[in-house]
Amino acid sequence: MTPGGLDALPPLRESLAEHGLWANKGLGQHFLLDLNITRKIARLAGDLSRGVTIEVGPGPGGLTRALLEAGAQVLAIEKDARFLPLLAQLAEAAKGRLTVIHDDALQSDETALSRALAPGEPVRVVANLPYNVGTPLLIKWLSGPLRPESLTLMFQKEVAQRIVADTGAEAYGRLAVICQALAQAEIVMDLPARAFTPPPKVASAVVRLTPKADRPSEATVKALEAVTREAFGQRRKMLKSSLKALGGATLCEAAGIDAELRAEAIDVAGFIQLAQAALDQAARSAAAAGVAKMS
Ligand code: SAM
Repeated sequence: MTPGGLDALPPLRESLAEHGLWANKGLGQHFLLDLNITRKIARLAGDLSRGVTIEVGPGPGGLTRALLEAGAQVLAIEKDARFLPLLAQLAEAAKGRLTVIHDDALQSDETALSRALAPGEPVRVVANLPYNVGTPLLIKWLSGPLRPESLTLMFQKEVAQRIVADTGAEAYGRLAVICQALAQAEIVMDLPARAFTPPPKVASAVVRLTPKADRPSEATVKALEAVTREAFGQRRKMLKSSLKALGGATLCEAAGIDAELRAEAIDVAGFIQLAQAALDQAARSAAAAGVAKMS
């Protein structure tokens, strides 16, 4: 590496002290300052030498450094303006391979973002985010226009287990169904609370998600959200009762699903059938209403 490059940067703790920065617990900030850990996460994110790696919430830039070391072109989105000067220093050392955007990733316009990227360029997402941001962001990016080839994300361990849970498991619910309808998901790394500065109250895990090429349509995902909300909202009840508002036994019959089963017994494919049947039912009702209006 040339002088002034990444290997000339001071240790992260020194950078934080130099810029007078500290973790704002109210914003869920828990930093990864051990480069051995961030390098491992960068390796788990796959081959970073092609395309663009979007990092959400770089904070002091520990994970960003590891991504850059692994050869990534990084687009980092950070909400907390306090980190911008430190990240600008990192961008200078990265010599054109780091672009920092000051924005809230939950609000960022992915259509504009995808237009700014070269067409066909592979995109992947890597993030260590506050726990309350990770899940909505995951659903937004899995179902949005960016179509990343992978997402490597840190979650509270209990949330990670809910994402990858199998049908019938205690942790199986809405999150598992929606995530697994859109992507293949696996836990690739466990991290104890002490790996973070300051340590959070709970353990964490890194989940790697590989979006499916033939993901369900946006309308099906919306219907899936509605069906799983009802089904798991009353998970002890049979589907004919829990799905009453959406057609109960009639909906189940149209989907080819046993209405006497409970939500936890229905696999992801079964829920997609139910969502599809709910959409067909809504289309038939809309058509019938249209005919009634004309007559
Ligand atoms: N990636 C750094 C690390 O591993 O040390 C920081 C992790 S800290 C848990 C989460 C970071 O995400 C913070 O820097 C926080 O300001 C940022 N953040 C939180 N919500 C965000 C949002 N909606 N959009 C962009 N960044 C966000």
